[in-house]
Amino acid sequence: MSDDASKRARDLVERDRKVVWHPYAPPQADPLFAVESTEGAEIRLSDGRTLVDGMSSWWSAIHGYRHPTIEAALKAQLETLPHIMFGGLTHEPAVRLCERLLDIAPKGLSRVFLCDSGSIAVEVAIKVAFQYWLSRGRPERSRLLTVEGGYHGDTFATMAVCDPVNGMHDFFRGVLPDHLFAEKPSCRFEDDFEERHIEDLASKLEIHRNEIAAVILEPVVQGAGGMWFYAPAYLRRLRELCDEHEVLLIFDEIATGFGRTGEMFGADHAGVSPDILSLGKSLTGGTLTLAATLVSDHVSDAIAAGEPGALMHGPTYMGNPLACAAAHASLDLLETTPWHENVKRIEAELREGLLPCSELPGVADVRALGAIGVVELEAPVDMKIVQPAFVEEGIWVRPFGKLVYLMPPYVTTTAQIEKLTSGLCAVVERYV
Ligand SMILES: *Cc1c(COP(=O)(O)O)cnc(C)c1O
Repeated sequence: MSDDASKRARDLVERDRKVVWHPYAPPQADPLFAVESTEGAEIRLSDGRTLVDGMSSWWSAIHGYRHPTIEAALKAQLETLPHIMFGGLTHEPAVRLCERLLDIAPKGLSRVFLCDSGSIAVEVAIKVAFQYWLSRGRPERSRLLTVEGGYHGDTFATMAVCDPVNGMHDFFRGVLPDHLFAEKPSCRFEDDFEERHIEDLASKLEIHRNEIAAVILEPVVQGAGGMWFYAPAYLRRLRELCDEHEVLLIFDEIATGFGRTGEMFGADHAGVSPDILSLGKSLTGGTLTLAATLVSDHVSDAIAAGEPGALMHGPTYMGNPLACAAAHASLDLLETTPWHENVKRIEAELREGLLPCSELPGVADVRALGAIGVVELEAPVDMKIVQPAFVEEGIWVRPFGKLVYLMPPYVTTTAQIEKLTSGLCAVVERYV
């Protein structure tokens, strides 16, 4: 790396620390790295170093960075209609995107609300559920039931259903609405599901059924709340229980959607459909922010039949045509590339490559599913030490708490996965 480049990178970090606030960070973020550009599965830092990306920019860049198909779609859309308000106006990119999402989503969903980020897609899902019961004259149905270990976003309604301990929002508990938490599904993905695995949830559902608007959870893979993989059959039983007690079922597939777990959607492992589904993150292949909430007819019909008859929500940038164009290009790539085979290959490579970690002291568990590999530690990592250590290894990995994990783009090569897994194991061995 040249001295000039290193100096420029250092200057940028210094300027950043004077004025910028980073996610989950104190006012002056540390450590912090200046980034220059991205391509494929790699990130180029401003100091000249190149890193293999194990995070897909928070799980969104599934086709790798700056994919020519997505770039071309964005450039073409820029020429005609970059943005227009969505109130009272409509356009081809949005209508066709809603059609396409309904085509590939679990069956039974029939209407789409486009919004601007994952948290908002969950807010809308929750609002739809509450408005459904208000419209039906049942205002007492105003609580949510969820499982421990979940993550649904950082806004106030979504924080209230994040894991009460690991959800990063414990601190706010006193000002959040009081929802119901059941034990998380304890059956591992590959385990046989048994009734006892859902007993706690089933009993809370039974006791509180007249106060509960909906059950909300992430199907098959719990993401930021614990990186936990559980048996798909759990979801089939959950669907039965929700039907029995007439409670709505919300699937948050913001992390699991678009192939990450090995199927197009987490729900597809179980063949189960929710009443409401939220999507985000990799919807645009990691280029622009866009999210969606899909709703079934019986829910939207009930809202239409009640007062005020309209869904009371409308973000300024909803249905942004540029973001819709990126989403189309990403869906095109899912149709035309062998993502399924790639994710399967990556799963095997992550499982094998992370295996040596399971022998190390301080490691509680190692697991892989789809393009997700997790090393769960016994104690939280010290980010100030491990983050620069990963960069030294030439990989971009950003753990949270006890979870050191990889969620690489689907285009990551075997050699790049090998670099990610061996670098990760080396850092865990040295610093945990
Ligand atoms: C990331 C995430 C969200 C929040 O999405 P943002 O775009 O960060 O607001 C919600 N639910 C799940 C499951 C997520 O992984």
